[in-house]
Amino acid sequence: MATREVEDIFADILDRVKTLDPANARKWFEKLTVLHLDGGSLGIGCPDEATVQFLRDNCKSNFTCAAQQITGHLVSVDFNVGTGEKSPRSWPGLKLHPDYTFDNFVVGPSNRLAHASCVAVSHSPGNTYNPLFIYGSSGLGKTHLLQAVCFEAQRKSDGEVIRFLSCEDFVNRFIRAIEQGNLAGFQSQFRTVDTLVIDDVQFLREREQSQEEFFHTFNVLYNNSKQIILSADSPPGKIPSLEERLISRFNWGLVTRIDPPSYETRVAIVQKKAHLRGLSISDEIAGYIARKVHANIRELEGALTTIYAVATTTGEAIDLELAQSALEGQLKPSARHISITDIIEVVTGHFDVRLADLQSKKRSQSITEPRQICMYLARNLTKHSLEEIGGHLGGRDHTTVIHACNKIGQAKTSDPQMHAVLSELTQQITQTPQA
Ligand code: ADP
Ligand code: MG
Repeated sequence: MATREVEDIFADILDRVKTLDPANARKWFEKLTVLHLDGGSLGIGCPDEATVQFLRDNCKSNFTCAAQQITGHLVSVDFNVGTGEKSPRSWPGLKLHPDYTFDNFVVGPSNRLAHASCVAVSHSPGNTYNPLFIYGSSGLGKTHLLQAVCFEAQRKSDGEVIRFLSCEDFVNRFIRAIEQGNLAGFQSQFRTVDTLVIDDVQFLREREQSQEEFFHTFNVLYNNSKQIILSADSPPGKIPSLEERLISRFNWGLVTRIDPPSYETRVAIVQKKAHLRGLSISDEIAGYIARKVHANIRELEGALTTIYAVATTTGEAIDLELAQSALEGQLKPSARHISITDIIEVVTGHFDVRLADLQSKKRSQSITEPRQICMYLARNLTKHSLEEIGGHLGGRDHTTVIHACNKIGQAKTSDPQMHAVLSELTQQITQTPQA
């Protein structure tokens, strides 16, 4: 039997395929089961050879598309006669993302050490760094690296048992084992493995009994030279209310940090993720996304997904314009620093006026309006004071700026045209690539 989780994912994929291809749904999709979903491949079990042939010939691309949408990963699909019952029993909870391999991990200065230590451990588990402890903020690739070690270790495995699970999962299993009076079963699941990988151990905080259990598991494995790999959002000593004896053990091996990626690494990651989805993306667009999203690779990927989704639904090619409009509203304006000069540049361009005019004493409508709009936008998009804003626009005092902000603010609510102009300008200003 496939695990509950895989079955749930497959049910979602089937639902998606049914919406993509309603005509074939009734006749062909009802009796399908999942054979496996791992290592980037989805095996689908069909009742007979005719179904296999029909689905291979007519439905493969819809299944592939649905599988990618649901899992968020590149998945290749194949059909075979069979039911999920025949698939080898996988350890419940072992869930490796098909994309989380070393091949798909972009190495840069921010993660070089963490990557190298994971590779080293995957070559010879138990003999290099033990335990290996990787920490860093959310979305920087900890889970990816941990799973890459599992993939690699599994590939080389000669029957060795590798367990990967989130710390939350560990804690929940422990609690269930206690409830069911099956602590021995729980313990043997973890104390007999060759490699134990536990993700997000900060989850142990304030869970005293789980910490105690984990401590003993750790000791048994360590004393038998079994590999232990852990990740957390902070270094061992900074995890609140973690027992001293655990902190010290976590520090026995190698502790490495992952930092936020540099611009160049972000560009390479965007390219890599696009490539995985079979997209080719220009350097210009990769650079655009990398400039928009700084601190979190998950968000970087999210931006790409959004762009891809818009391109798929509109059927348009991915160009800079599409990328910009797809990400509109997705990203906080604070993601980049906006200066008054940026604002003035966009506004003078839009209204075809000169900066000198905005700074002059001229009071014709064609000049005052753009001038007031500059003040309004500067007030809303920058942290400059009223005085500073007035200073940039011909040395006007703060009451003039307040007046302008009120006037434009009111016009924005009462006049749809003004509303549209302001949105358009704001979009242009917040999306101008940073120099
Ligand atoms: P964490 O566990 O640290 O919160 P994840 O490992 O879940 O972060 O990474 C978030 C996303 O970013 C994943 O899709 C992962 O594949 C991707 N990612 C992170 N670092 C890299 C990298 N160096 N190269 C390619 N993808 C990466
Ligand atoms: Mg993670």
